[in-house]
Amino acid sequence: MDHIELAKNTEICRNCKNVVVGKGNLNAPILFVGEAPGRNEDEQGLPFVGAAGKNLDKLLEKVGLSMDNVYIANILKCRPPENRGPLPEEIKAHTPWLLKQIEDIKPKVICSLGNYATKFFLSGTDVDGMDKQPGITTVHGKVRIIELHGKKVKLIPLFHPAAIIYNRSLLGEWEKDIELVKKEIAQETLF
Ligand code: URA
Repeated sequence: MDHIELAKNTEICRNCKNVVVGKGNLNAPILFVGEAPGRNEDEQGLPFVGAAGKNLDKLLEKVGLSMDNVYIANILKCRPPENRGPLPEEIKAHTPWLLKQIEDIKPKVICSLGNYATKFFLSGTDVDGMDKQPGITTVHGKVRIIELHGKKVKLIPLFHPAAIIYNRSLLGEWEKDIELVKKEIAQETLF
């Protein structure tokens, strides 16, 4: 079964309105990876178009980035019911699609947004190992080099933009982390 069929074979994919693949520039050096589509994303077939998306837009604007410079995708391509968190079996079925996107886009920097995306990459894409990984509160803003498809990529975990909406005290940390992303991107463009 190929990566698209595998994802489409899940219950959430049979029940969603739209499969949300991603948006932005497919040649971008930076890939943002979120968790899963919500109601607005499911309606429109695009990631990060609701409240969390507005926050992410602000984040991008702050560092002088637009959809021209980044690509945005999610761990899951379909909306889980009632916006519950992704289940391990769903992550296993949907992330081969994400990994194929990474293989095609070849980003230099991956910004994982929130716990699910961060733990997926920290576990070396081993879904069963995700729950042993440290949480976003510990690892946000810490740059790591990971290897995907035999290529080194910088991983920068960030708080999920939705978390900032509910916990405004994270905003300061978030702004610091974004400055770091900006610095790393500036370095990347040198080579
Ligand atoms: N939250 C996510 O993680 N992804 C989206 O696309 C929207 C909200």
